Amino acid sequence: MEVGNEHAPVLEAASTFAELGLDPKILSALEEMGYKTPTPIQKQAIPLVLSGRDLMAQAQTGTGKTAAFALPLLQKMLPHANTSASPARHPVRALALAPTRELAIQVYESVVTYSKNLPLRSSVVFGGVDMKPQEADLRAGVEILVATPGRLLDHCGSRPALLNQVQFLVLDEADRMLDMGFLPDLKRILNLLPANRQTLLFSATFDDSIVGLARSFLQNPLKVEVARRNTAAETVEQVVHKVKEDDKLDALVRVVRSRDIAQALVFTRTKISADKLGRRLQKRGIPSAVIHGDKAQLERLAALDGFKQGKMQLLVATDIAARGLDIVELPCVFNYELPYSPEDYVHRIGRTGRAGASGLAVSLVSHEEDRLLAGIERFIKRELKPAPLPEVAAPAPIRQAVEAAPAAENPAMPPPARIGRRRVEPVCALLMPPPPRPVEAQPGAE
Ligand code: AMP
Repeated sequence: MEVGNEHAPVLEAASTFAELGLDPKILSALEEMGYKTPTPIQKQAIPLVLSGRDLMAQAQTGTGKTAAFALPLLQKMLPHANTSASPARHPVRALALAPTRELAIQVYESVVTYSKNLPLRSSVVFGGVDMKPQEADLRAGVEILVATPGRLLDHCGSRPALLNQVQFLVLDEADRMLDMGFLPDLKRILNLLPANRQTLLFSATFDDSIVGLARSFLQNPLKVEVARRNTAAETVEQVVHKVKEDDKLDALVRVVRSRDIAQALVFTRTKISADKLGRRLQKRGIPSAVIHGDKAQLERLAALDGFKQGKMQLLVATDIAARGLDIVELPCVFNYELPYSPEDYVHRIGRTGRAGASGLAVSLVSHEEDRLLAGIERFIKRELKPAPLPEVAAPAPIRQAVEAAPAAENPAMPPPARIGRRRVEPVCALLMPPPPRPVEAQPGAE
C-alpha cells in the first residue's frame, strides 16, 4: 500500500479535552489558556498519537496543530516525569524539528505552557545566537527538545549521545523544511535516532517529496487531514478596496484608523517594499516593525517580540517571513500587495481568525493587480466584491504603543513561566548577545 494512504477514522466523538483522556494536570493548563474544545486536528490526532501510531497530518499553522502533537506526547511522557536533579534522569525523549527559529520558539513556548504543571523539562535550540546557554540547558537534561535542524546537528557534534533515547519525533512544517533544503540535515539527524520510535509529520501540503520523506522516515503512518489548503477560513471577513498604487499608504492608514485596528500584519510581496512601507508608516506616526528574510536573527525576533507585546501596531512582513508565525488573537491582516500565488493569499488571511476566532482580511488592490485578484477568486471559489473605502473618521489619536517598560513591569508582557525551579522567559529574553561570528546562514533563506 502507498505510504500514508490509510486514512485515520474520523473521530468526532470526543468533544472535550477530558474525553480525549488527557491528564488533569494538562487539562488545568489548557483551561488556564482558555482552550474549551479541541480543534478538528486535535480531535483526530490526539487519540492516534496516544495509540502509538505514526502520523502524516495535513494541517497548517492556525489549526491548533502544535497542541495536536504536544498534548498527547506530554501525556505519553508522564510516566517518566520526575523532579530529580540528575541530568541522566532527563534524557531527550521527544524531539520536534521546525524549519525556522520563529516557529521553533513558538512550538517551545506552547510546550512550556501545556506542561507548566508537569515535572518535564523543555528547551529550544536554533542558530544565529550563542550556543553556550543552549549547551547548558542540554547538559542539565531536557525531555522535550525543539530545534531547527542545523543548530541541532551542531550540538550533536559535541554531544553524540544527545538523541539516542528519543522515542518521539515530530517533523513540523515538513514541506517547508524540504523547501528550505533541509533534507540532508534531516537524514543526518534521523541516523542519530533510535529506529524504534513514533514519528509524526505535519505538513501543509502532501506532494511527492513529502510522501518520499514519509516513506523513508515513518512506519505505516495513518493520514489525517483538516482544512484544505485552498479553503479560506470561514471565520475571516474578506474585504477588498480598489485603490491606485500611489494611494495605498493613505488607504491603509485610513482603514486602520476608521476601523480602530489595534494590531495587524501587513503583507508585501518583496523585502524592498516591506522596508519602504515600514519607513513610511513610521513617518506617519504608526508604530510598526518589519520582518523579512534579510533581517538579522536578532532584528527579526525583536520585531516579533515588540509586536507580540503590543509595542508595535503594525508588523510588515513578506510571505516567507510570516509563515509559521503564531500571533495569538491577531484581529486583522492587510494585503498591501496581493501575492502572486493564490495559495499565499489563503496562507496570509489564515493568520487571523485562528482556532475559531473571527478575523478581518483587508486587501488593497490596484488596477495592476486585477488579474491576481481574479486568480484568487478562482482559487477560493468565491467572488470578492470591492467595497468603498471607509469614510475618513474625525482625526482619531493614533493608538499609543504600550510603554516600553522593563519586562517585569510591563502589563502586556507575560510573566515568566516556571517549570519546577526553571524560569522560562518570554521570547525576547531568549535573545542572547550576537556571537562574534556572522549569523548562521540557513539553507534556502529568503
Ligand atoms: P497552531 O496551529 O498550533 O499554531 O495554533 C494556533 C493558535 O490556536 C495558537 O494561538 C493556539 O494557542 C490556539 N489554539 C490551539 N488549540 C486551541 C483550542 N483547542 N482552543 C483555542 N485555541 C487553540
